[in-house]
Amino acid sequence: MSALFRHLPSMDRLLRHLADDPELSALPRALVRDLADAFLDLLREEIRAGAVRDESDLSMERLLPRLLAFVRRGARPHFRRVLNATGVVIHTNLGRSCLAEAATRAVTDACRNYSNLEFDLSTGARGSRYAHVEKLICRITGAEAALVVNNNAAAVLIVLDTLAKGREVVVSRGQLVEIGGSFRIPDVMRRSGAELVEVGATNRTHLRDYEQAITENTGMLLKVHCSNFRIIGFTKEVPLEDLVSLGRARGIPVVEDLGSGSFFDFRQAAGLSLEEPTVQRTVASGADIVTFSGDKVLGGPQAGIIVGRAEWIDKIKKNPLNRALRIDKMTLAALEATLRLYLDPERARAEIPTLAMITAAPNELRAKARALAARLRTALAGLAGVRVAPGVSRVGGGSFPEFDLPTSLVELTPAAPVRAENLRQALLATDPPLVGRVERGALMLDPRTLRRDEFPLVAEALAQGFAAATPNPDNP
Ligand SMILES: *Cc1c(COP(=O)(O)O)cnc(C)c1O
Repeated sequence: MSALFRHLPSMDRLLRHLADDPELSALPRALVRDLADAFLDLLREEIRAGAVRDESDLSMERLLPRLLAFVRRGARPHFRRVLNATGVVIHTNLGRSCLAEAATRAVTDACRNYSNLEFDLSTGARGSRYAHVEKLICRITGAEAALVVNNNAAAVLIVLDTLAKGREVVVSRGQLVEIGGSFRIPDVMRRSGAELVEVGATNRTHLRDYEQAITENTGMLLKVHCSNFRIIGFTKEVPLEDLVSLGRARGIPVVEDLGSGSFFDFRQAAGLSLEEPTVQRTVASGADIVTFSGDKVLGGPQAGIIVGRAEWIDKIKKNPLNRALRIDKMTLAALEATLRLYLDPERARAEIPTLAMITAAPNELRAKARALAARLRTALAGLAGVRVAPGVSRVGGGSFPEFDLPTSLVELTPAAPVRAENLRQALLATDPPLVGRVERGALMLDPRTLRRDEFPLVAEALAQGFAAATPNPDNP
């Protein structure tokens, strides 16, 4: 075995071969050297494990294709594009919302060039970065004032910190949600220095529960949207209007954290029975402050949008935390472009990918599924059975939990020896990676979250995936 180690190619030899490859020769030398090093480590590991039979296995002729593939794979950027075939539109792990074309153009423009980010072009003096979107947000939502911070978690934090530090915040027990990751309403409240006063039972909270909890130290009545779960059965929630009347009577601000706030009325405009209040309706109900995400159902960049009464928003703007939570110019550019689309709801629906995907019509999805299936039958001839089957997609992002969107799936049943689960795993390493789900021994691809211009990439990823998932007798 130790004799085999002497037949390992030298680092210099590997580097010379890599320099001959036109694609790889453009890579940073330090990166190529690290990868060649890792490749040699891998070979040593294989010798130790007895996987290398004789010195011919270590000839450059045998090694070169592996070396090139290894370096190509290792040199890819870590953060990259993925094909989302899951049908989950706002997929938290896959980047939530894709931006509209107008928004991506605005981002490019904002980051390639100087801009009037904090410069007032009418006076030539310093301006405010928030002025660019505040009017638009107010115009769309009907709110008096608005502010944008890094994300909705930051929005909730700064609202609590400004209005309720050292004071009591009354919340229904049924709304103490955990959003995922480590964002839990009670924890955020503790961080902000507010004291949580839970009222009601998990399934039922009455107005009198809030009334009885109010003391001279109550700083806020808070309503949190149950984004990612549903309480069903014997339940009762206090309508926002009733909380607002109570707050008004006692001089206490009422805040609603909507989570995934929507400007778009899915029921009215798209006939979907998504029973969620829009931001406009929540503002009209009289809430003093409403917070929501920019990259959930809104379909814009990551941001936390705070709207409400000017007296409170002004206080929040002056909070020193605001500087720490502020948005950058790329976000601002993407947000303004997205908001402008909302001035015409039909345009918003057509051009904001999140809205377009949620409202895609069943016959449109069927046609897409058929087109994808036809392409895959040609590309994967003999490798898999391909058919179109009815299924369901999800909105995701903690929005509209348990709500099924009917869709048409492309169902791939791999021919032996490949198994659907191995294929699913192999597809995580293709270029680009393709994320799907396995059901009933088949890989399911939902065309709702794939653009037609991505179909060739899907076919390419699947071809790579099948090659990788097929057991190779030469290379066990
Ligand atoms: C998603 C969500 C948040 C957090 O929003 P981010 O934009 O992810 O920071 C907060 N509250 C609710 C109710 C949510 O659904």
